[in-house]
Amino acid sequence: MKILAVNAGSSSLKFQLLEMPDEMVITSGIVERIGYDNAEFTIKVNDKKVTEKLEIKNHKVAVHLVVEGLIKHKIIKSLDEIKGVGHRVVQGGELFKDSAIITDEVVEKIKSLNDLAPLHNPANITGIQAFREALPDVIQVAVFDTTFHQTMNELAYLYAAPYEWYKKYGVRKYGFHGTSHQYVSERAAELLDNPNAKIIVCHLGNGASLCAVDGGKSVDTSMGLTPLEGIPMGTRSGNVDPAVLMLIAAKENKTYAEVLDDLNKKSGYLGVSGISNDSRDIIDNMNKGDYRSMLAHKIQIKRIADYIGSYYVYMGGLDAIVFTAGIGENSPEIRKGILEAISVLGVTVDEEQNSKRGERMVSTSDSRVKAFIIPTNEEVMIAREVIRLENL
Ligand code: ADP
Repeated sequence: MKILAVNAGSSSLKFQLLEMPDEMVITSGIVERIGYDNAEFTIKVNDKKVTEKLEIKNHKVAVHLVVEGLIKHKIIKSLDEIKGVGHRVVQGGELFKDSAIITDEVVEKIKSLNDLAPLHNPANITGIQAFREALPDVIQVAVFDTTFHQTMNELAYLYAAPYEWYKKYGVRKYGFHGTSHQYVSERAAELLDNPNAKIIVCHLGNGASLCAVDGGKSVDTSMGLTPLEGIPMGTRSGNVDPAVLMLIAAKENKTYAEVLDDLNKKSGYLGVSGISNDSRDIIDNMNKGDYRSMLAHKIQIKRIADYIGSYYVYMGGLDAIVFTAGIGENSPEIRKGILEAISVLGVTVDEEQNSKRGERMVSTSDSRVKAFIIPTNEEVMIAREVIRLENL
């Protein structure tokens, strides 16, 4: 059964066609710079990327290209072969405690959350609507980045701010990367052969978040109302004193929105190092003796270790730390830095395993707390959700 997993952004549309339940990728691709002069459509055909540059006015045109492209490149013979479409939706608020089969009512509910994710949800809806028009008879499912974290209790998700902000405006911690945290923690529980395991997932990509998973449920996570909260990232600051907004706005004659933009786009690795948002550049420059790159690296490690310590205490123990996403899967230096920073919890790095890639244990066999690399796969998780809801 073929399922399409879709991630629609404001000017892009990524997709993967999967054979389920085997979880095999049939093809994948991306439509980029939708609405701009230099738009292009890339699709993998027999493992080779085929790119076409053409006018792509809007998401409707993009979706049309994708479905026609699947037939044109003989990936499928007919659209009937697509049995379901799963859409990544960033913000499900408190309205979605599970993935949802898309109906007009569900679309309206997602729209009602636009204030909480003004950059993401409208783009996700555009993708959903375009696919509903292109494949009207195919089941479509919304899979939310926030759903997995809906099991957090109010001690974890409430800010110690006026309670009315929560009641009136939904100001609370929602958390993101939920599909990734769920996929990776489920796999870790399998590897540990313990469904009740206490796990901390470190999803370290350009965006990065940590999640404390106790018995398969998210009990705390580092991102908040928006993806800005938590640990420092490629270009995001993570936690700072909100009073910074007022000070910098006054000093640099900026609006709060502009300062917030600086915290989102000019901070983290990029801000501290002044060189790059990419962990590889940070490590390279640090190794060449660049002081600010060293700071960027060490601040990141310290903040991650702070969260791990706090989740350890909150969960009352820890069975495993899991690394995933671009940095988590590929950077031995950062994994080692984190594991050494938390060695007091009883974790020891296996240097040889840690120097490799792919799913594996990177702690020594006698390490009390285990550490793993588990490559994430949000598309498979989305496709699994489509199948689960279809069978309901
Ligand atoms: P996104 O949040 O955009 O999905 P990814 O999970 O793809 O991000 O992670 C991107 C980051 O992963 C890059 O900025 C880079 O720091 C890091 N990264 C990717 N590949 C490697 C690699 N081979 N070695 C070290 N770091 C890598």
